Amino acid sequence: MKRHNFSAGPCILPQDVLKKASEAVIDFDNGLSLLEISHRSKPFVDVMENARALALELLGLEGKGYKALFLQGGASTQFLMVALNMLEKRAGYLNTGTWSDKAIKEARIYDDIYEVASSKDANFNYIPKGYDIPTDYDYFHCTSNNTIFGTQMKEFPNSPIPMVCDMSSDIFSRQLDFSKFDLIYAGAQKNMGPAGATLVVVKEDILGKVSRKIPSMMDYKVHISKSSMFNTPPVFSVYVSMLTLQWLKDLGGIPAIEKENEKKAQLIYSEIDLNPLFKGFSTKSDRSTMNATFTLANEDLKETFETMVKEAGINGLNGHRSVGGYRASMYNALSLESVGVLVDVMSELERKA
Ligand SMILES: *Cc1c(COP(=O)(O)O)cnc(C)c1O
Repeated sequence: MKRHNFSAGPCILPQDVLKKASEAVIDFDNGLSLLEISHRSKPFVDVMENARALALELLGLEGKGYKALFLQGGASTQFLMVALNMLEKRAGYLNTGTWSDKAIKEARIYDDIYEVASSKDANFNYIPKGYDIPTDYDYFHCTSNNTIFGTQMKEFPNSPIPMVCDMSSDIFSRQLDFSKFDLIYAGAQKNMGPAGATLVVVKEDILGKVSRKIPSMMDYKVHISKSSMFNTPPVFSVYVSMLTLQWLKDLGGIPAIEKENEKKAQLIYSEIDLNPLFKGFSTKSDRSTMNATFTLANEDLKETFETMVKEAGINGLNGHRSVGGYRASMYNALSLESVGVLVDVMSELERKA
């Protein structure tokens, strides 16, 4: 039985993409596996170029001075790479949870970091607003969607300095003016493909402004000059990301998937709000359309609820240890029908209790 996969990451991918990916592992190019051809061969270079072009096209950033790269080391490596490439004196970070916290920690290795605002006082259940971004800093860093806490930035500041955003868990899920950002990064394994590749979309003219020496593998300019092929790229992850981006384009791109994502979010949040047995974790206006976090009002029902969840074929609903309770991650490839199955279990619990 195909399970309803609410896992936070690695997470659900389109079934059709998984099928094509598995076929390419056996035979990608005239009897050779995708995993055994040279990354310099034309068939793979085409994959890389196609993936990079699709990323820019879907974000509406073609011809606007941006480059797309598929790098390794996950979003966690971007925490330090951003600082190495952009931090000269001081940067401002918006602290909205565990991932921002980690980004701040890495950047502090290189220079001074100022937290422009933080929601730590309420265990990150909201997004701070009304903060000022100093005009003389090197860049401003924010996290668009807080995967662990289930909050999401609905609006972005008009930053007077370059704006960097960790979009790991909501890239390609909603329409934004992506040209507001100078650097966007995202680990593939939330909304794009298998772990192993990280998408970086960077406006070229913000680079080359720091005085330090940057190791080649950590230097965006090196990766740009080598068309994201400075060393052997994570071929499988790039290929599957390309398939997912193509899937999204065929579906109608971000505007089409955003509608679906909103329907899914509405369905789960209205159940959380109407069902007295559940409590939402995050502040309503900041709720994430990707990760819905909630707890049981009465812990005595834990075993019953979790048995019902399991019997319904639902996977990956456990909350992160820093929030507890449950987290329904509803990335692009999760169907409205799967959310319906979860909501049915929640309302069934209410009838039983
Ligand atoms: C998962 C996640 C990360 C970490 O990604 P890795 O690729 O595992 O390093 C960073 N930021 C956000 C917002 C995430 O959701």
